[in-house]
Amino acid sequence: MTTITNHLPTAELQRLDAAHHMHPFTTGDALNKKGARVITKARGVFLTDSEGIEILDGMAGLWCVNIGYGREEMAEAAARQIRELTYYNTFFQTTHVPAIALAAKLAELAPGDLNHVFFAGSGSEANDTNLRMVRTYWAQKGQPERNIVIARKNGYHGSTMGGGSLGGMAPIHSQGGLPIPNIHHIGQPHWYAEGGDMSPEEFGLQRAQELEAAILEFGPERVAAFIGEAVQGAGGVIIPPSTYWPEIQRICKKYDILLIVDEVITGFGRTGNWFACETFGIEPDIITVAKGLSSGYQPIGGSIVGDKVAAVINACEFNHGYTYSGHPVAAAVALENLRILEEEKVLDHVREVAAPYLKAKWEALADHPLVGEAKICGMMGSIALTPDKASRAKFASEEGTVGLICRERCFANSLVMRHVGDRMIISPPLVITPAEIDILIERATKSLDECLAAVKERGLYKAA
Ligand SMILES: *Cc1c(COP(=O)(O)O)cnc(C)c1O
Repeated sequence: MTTITNHLPTAELQRLDAAHHMHPFTTGDALNKKGARVITKARGVFLTDSEGIEILDGMAGLWCVNIGYGREEMAEAAARQIRELTYYNTFFQTTHVPAIALAAKLAELAPGDLNHVFFAGSGSEANDTNLRMVRTYWAQKGQPERNIVIARKNGYHGSTMGGGSLGGMAPIHSQGGLPIPNIHHIGQPHWYAEGGDMSPEEFGLQRAQELEAAILEFGPERVAAFIGEAVQGAGGVIIPPSTYWPEIQRICKKYDILLIVDEVITGFGRTGNWFACETFGIEPDIITVAKGLSSGYQPIGGSIVGDKVAAVINACEFNHGYTYSGHPVAAAVALENLRILEEEKVLDHVREVAAPYLKAKWEALADHPLVGEAKICGMMGSIALTPDKASRAKFASEEGTVGLICRERCFANSLVMRHVGDRMIISPPLVITPAEIDILIERATKSLDECLAAVKERGLYKAA
């Protein structure tokens, strides 16, 4: 077998990648023709590729590397745990210190009575757990017909059968027989794209009231739970109007519907608090976590469960779990990540330094001729590209054409900024400094300028 090292020529790595590696959410043939960019190392907020080019990672990997790349203490924590107890399960009346310590720490950090943790290996798995848990909760309470879960169009909850079904993304639903039964999707609180002439506040209320309408249509005795991301991430960093979450909360309470808030992106400081539930004043029954839980240093996720649901689930045998639920190495690394976030006061840095500085610079991008709105919540931001600011118009070209051009300009300018359709999004490591934010904004502005020039040149600067 050949040893695959960083020292092979880029073209050879790309050839092997094309021959053997199937990429997630990718058209393999198209990627294989041009070759994937090979990332070889990373420190802080910067990635390095196989050609030695340094790239500012405006996405913290996939929204996860909250403490930045390459922390020595994290490597030490993993090594220490591998030597001490590499692996053991938590199925058969056994437990271990990392799982105990992490569950207790999460119970301490999470708001309200969210005092219990069911571990998973990822956000998708945790949402699969949630789906089974809320249905089991009602079945145990003698209401097995109460099994409909209401979610949102353009929500993202992962890409397993359960997670992909809870999500409301048409491209995911179009493959593999999703959504599974008894999941219903209502409209998203996306004012910029769908709010028409309403004010954001009116629109937020209206979209939340779609939940009440759906509950009344099915009958409250059929509805188990509502799930939503505090701020939609993969859907395009869509920050809900201020009226949205209070109304959702009111409706869930009124009809005794369990509320699951997916904090896979928003947890662990992304919005300036440990959880976005605090930022938005939401009191959920279950929170989904993953990503920033370990800053992406190890794959780990989980469901943080309130007393009410835990009491019912603990009273039965919940026939569910993963070989790697609470994996000791992943748990030890997550604990070290939480220690760093706490002891280095990373949330204070977000609230007092990084988020205000980034907000001022980011919102100023709204003055760019290609930008219709520039919004940010803590350390996750979006800009909507438009040919006509005043009307919030879409481009005449197929959605995503202009976004992709912009993304490719960013790529060329050594900035990772992702596009979702014709929206550009960022979610940088929380530890980013003002000087690094300056670089991010400088590269984003250059990319927007180049995108505008390309769009004009190709005759795409036209409203639909
Ligand atoms: C990424 C994400 C997930 C899925 O997490 P995986 O670890 O990729 O399975 C679920 N929910 C939200 C909100 C996410 O952003």
